[in-house]
Amino acid sequence: MLEGKNAIVTGGSLGIGTAIALDLARNGANVAINYRRHDKEAKDVVAQIEKMGRKGLAVKADVSSFEDARKMVAEVKDNFGGIDILVCNAGINRDSVIWKMEEKQWDEVMATDLKGTFNYCRAVAPLFREQKSGRIINIASINALRGKFGQTNYSAAKAGVVGLSKALAKELGRSNVNVNVVCPGMIETEMMAKIPEEFKQKARDETVLGRIGAPEDVASVVSFLCSEGARHITGEVIKVDGGQYI
Ligand code: NDP
Repeated sequence: MLEGKNAIVTGGSLGIGTAIALDLARNGANVAINYRRHDKEAKDVVAQIEKMGRKGLAVKADVSSFEDARKMVAEVKDNFGGIDILVCNAGINRDSVIWKMEEKQWDEVMATDLKGTFNYCRAVAPLFREQKSGRIINIASINALRGKFGQTNYSAAKAGVVGLSKALAKELGRSNVNVNVVCPGMIETEMMAKIPEEFKQKARDETVLGRIGAPEDVASVVSFLCSEGARHITGEVIKVDGGQYI
């Protein structure tokens, strides 16, 4: 489905990003990931991509750095010979009710989740415009759409990602570039590891399917959005949440 395509996935060393990188590779794409801390895990993802017969690359690059984004896009273009797909997945949470939230908690989430998405979209946009093709998928959250107690920073950053993506879909549509957002509900990953079981149970109860999602549930939707079958979908926000939002 994606043979010969070249992809960048931000935050590919763990969780949803790893599942997306591996699913894109399984579907035929060469995949470059970035990450900040987990060197061993990132190397392992690259090894798995290469085992499938695709090119893989791991770049240690902080998504909140505009300069790192510019450098990584240039490096991937040189290594793979082009870029067709960008998945902005890297994200963090620093939860607190607003009356206890430190400025640092607000700033870190904005810098990673929102500015990080801007940085990579900004870095690939000239190339995608020039080649008159490209797919951008930004990972937000259902909490962008409904707000979550204890997550004013995260809900605001992810709502920003939705707004950014819709505006970008308009700016790049005439260049044959599709921009879509995937909003996961609760997914079992490292990010969720610190959440007490009672909150996980509450999320499970909120879903209509009665389960917490797996990273692969998000990855398969991202791969579809990168495929020819999704060529007429842009500016869309797709929830992958087992009905947690409704
Ligand atoms: P994880 O914490 O498991 O993984 C986050 C990934 O992002 C890691 O690979 C991490 O790399 C990378 N990362 C974090 N900060 C940076 C940075 N500054 N620069 C580069 N890479 C960075 O998270 P999930 O897999 O759970 O989440 C992935 C995305 O999905 C996030 O955007 C999250 O907000 C969103 N999401 C997750 C949900 C869930 O329930 N899990 C629900 C809804 C949305 P490293 O640690 O190596 O630095």
